[in-house]
Amino acid sequence: MPILRPDLDSRHLVPFDGDFSIRDFSADPPKGSPSEAGLEKELAELVGELDKLQRLLFADGRFAVLSVFQAMDAAGKDSTIRKVFSGVNPAGFRVHAFGRPSELELQHDFFWRCGQRLPERGKIGIFNRSHYEEVLVVRVHPQFLAAQHLPDVDTRRIWEERFESIRNFERHLARNGTVVLKFWLNVSRKEQGKRLRARIAEPDKNWKFRLADLDERARWDDYMAAYESMLRETSREYAPWFAIPADDKDYMRTAVARIMVEALKELGLRYPEMDAGRRQELKEGLRRLEKE
Ligand code: ATP
Ligand code: MG
Repeated sequence: MPILRPDLDSRHLVPFDGDFSIRDFSADPPKGSPSEAGLEKELAELVGELDKLQRLLFADGRFAVLSVFQAMDAAGKDSTIRKVFSGVNPAGFRVHAFGRPSELELQHDFFWRCGQRLPERGKIGIFNRSHYEEVLVVRVHPQFLAAQHLPDVDTRRIWEERFESIRNFERHLARNGTVVLKFWLNVSRKEQGKRLRARIAEPDKNWKFRLADLDERARWDDYMAAYESMLRETSREYAPWFAIPADDKDYMRTAVARIMVEALKELGLRYPEMDAGRRQELKEGLRRLEKE
C-alpha cells in the first residue's frame, strides 16, 4: 500500500503516535517563511507540477488520490481547493462538499455518501468536509445522533468506535491504491473573528455570512477538543493528517500544494510498460502511417 516517507513535510505532518496537544500546532507560518511574492511564485510552479503529475497518475493507472479538507468556518477550504487545483485538467479531479446529510443519506451508514464520491484510479478526489464531520460537528452536537436512526448509541463508546471504523476504512482504501492525504486548515479564533467581521463589512462577502457560524464559533473549545482527539486517533502512516497554518492564506495554499506534489512524486509513478504486443502495435502503426 502507498506509504509516505515519514519525513514528508515533517513541519506539518501530525505525528502518528498521538503524542501532542492541539496547542502544539501554530496557525502562523513557521519563522523564515518566504515573502508573499516568494510564496506566489512557488505556488504557481507547484500548480503546474501538479497538473503534470496528475496526467502521469492517469497514465500509470494504479493509484487514486483522495484529499480531505477539514476546518472551522472561514479557514479557507474553498479558496485553497480552488487555487491549488487551478492548473489541473478538470477531467482529472472532482470536488465534493459534504453538508448536513439528507434523509436518504441518513438511511445509510455514514460512509455511504462518501463511498460514492471516491476517486477512481488516475484521478484526484477532493472532499470539502467529509466523514470526519461524524466525529467533529456531531461530537460537539451529540443530539444530531438522534436523527441517524442508529440501533443503539452509547456516547461513552461511540467516538472510539467511529475512529476505529474510519481507520479501517482508510487503511482499506490505502491497500487498494487510494492515497489518502488529510488537511486540517488551522485558523486561529482571532483570525476567524476577523474574517467573519469582513463578511459583514464587505458587501461582496455578505452572501457568505451565516449567523449560525457564530453559534459554532461559540463552541470553539469543544471543537478544538474534538479536533485534537480526531488528529490523535486518525493520523496514521497510511492516511496522514497535515496541520496547515491557515492564518496566512498564501502560506496555507503553498503548503498544501507542496504536500500534494511531494506525495505524488513519492509514488514513483511511471508510464505503463510497453509489452511485446504493444510494441508490435506501435511498429504496425508506424508502418501504416508511412504507407499513407
Ligand atoms: P463555508 O466555509 O463557505 O461556509 P461550509 O463548508 O461551512 O462552507 P456550509 O454549507 O456552510 O459549508 O456548511 C455545511 C455544514 O454541514 C457545516 O456546518 C457542517 O458541519 C455540516 N455537516 C457536514 N456533515 C455533517 C454531518 N455528518 N452531520 C451534521 N452536520 C454536518
Ligand atoms: Mg459554513
